[in-house]
Amino acid sequence: MSATLPTAQLADRHGRVARDLRVSVTDRCNLRCRYCMPAEGLPWLAKPEMLTDDELVRLVSIFVALGVQQVRLTGGEPLLRRSLTDVVGRIASLEPRPRIAMTTNGIGLDRLAAPLAAAGLDRVNVSLDTVDPAEFADLTRRDRLHDVEAGMAAAREAGLTPVKVNAVAMRGINDHSVADLLAWCLERGYELRFIEQMPLDAQHGWDASSMISADEIRERLSERFAITPLPAADRGSAPAERFLVDGGPATVGIIASVTAPFCGACDRTRLTADGQVRNCLFSQRETDLRGPMRDGASDDELADLITGEMWRKAKGHGIGSADFVQPLRPMSAIGG
Ligand code: SAM
Ligand code: SF4
Repeated sequence: MSATLPTAQLADRHGRVARDLRVSVTDRCNLRCRYCMPAEGLPWLAKPEMLTDDELVRLVSIFVALGVQQVRLTGGEPLLRRSLTDVVGRIASLEPRPRIAMTTNGIGLDRLAAPLAAAGLDRVNVSLDTVDPAEFADLTRRDRLHDVEAGMAAAREAGLTPVKVNAVAMRGINDHSVADLLAWCLERGYELRFIEQMPLDAQHGWDASSMISADEIRERLSERFAITPLPAADRGSAPAERFLVDGGPATVGIIASVTAPFCGACDRTRLTADGQVRNCLFSQRETDLRGPMRDGASDDELADLITGEMWRKAKGHGIGSADFVQPLRPMSAIGG
């Protein structure tokens, strides 16, 4: 890494600075969640298109030199990358060491939680939308609820805590069971956050009128629990509005990514499995790092490409505005 790289350069023209890098380590997945991808899957990236471990770690090291403090590994399903433990270990040895988190569907985590924690992984978010086996199979099109539950227990056992749970509610599938999911998480000490469904599915089937809003989730939880908002004072760039459950100390988060966007406080940037930097999930453009890197670009040249892309970050995602266009890349190929 060049000693001349400046720090904290991931600023945009709207006054935000990115500190949180989301890295998609693969676009493949072993589930087929309805809000994410079609039943038949997607045309996955071919191996030569994907960043090698050396390329991926080199790019992460440049982001860290530019001020990134947290690296979140995601996908696709990150546990499907065979070298994941190794990649985590190499990121953990960067100076300054970033915090390392992962978003996963949990399948395989029963086996991998302990080695990942030993390699330097700090925390996990496990995506789980329902604890009803039939609903799970309907929503993900796979009968794997037991694997996810085992993975979450192993994560807690391995100290990857707090284990956070990400849930998306879909009308007519799991919307009536959101309180059951909360009760299940409370019993096990998992921190649940609901996220509004966003127009990022590969099949472009998202529809504002059928989306379960943050308000609706709150109403449904309130039918069983006393849900009281925590002061927003220390929310910072965290997108979830948090609520005390039955007076606390347990909490539940609700992320109104569509109905009350948090773009003004966004501190994220993204690197895809094929080496494109994206300044926003909803960006219509991205900057290629893989090509220049394979053509011999220096760290300083790659850093310039990254900072240039960040500077162009739009003020907001614009969902709901008349000229909103869904990005070509689906969530699973960007890294959620
Ligand atoms: N496969 C891993 C998983 O499911 O956690 C990581 C990748 S997944 C794309 C990351 C997160 O994005 C998951 O929590 C998933 O629920 C969420 N997600 C996927 N599609 C979404 C959509 N259309 N709207 C909101 N969240 C979505
Ligand atoms: Fe796979 Fe995650 Fe998309 Fe579900 S949300 S299909 S687990 S990438």
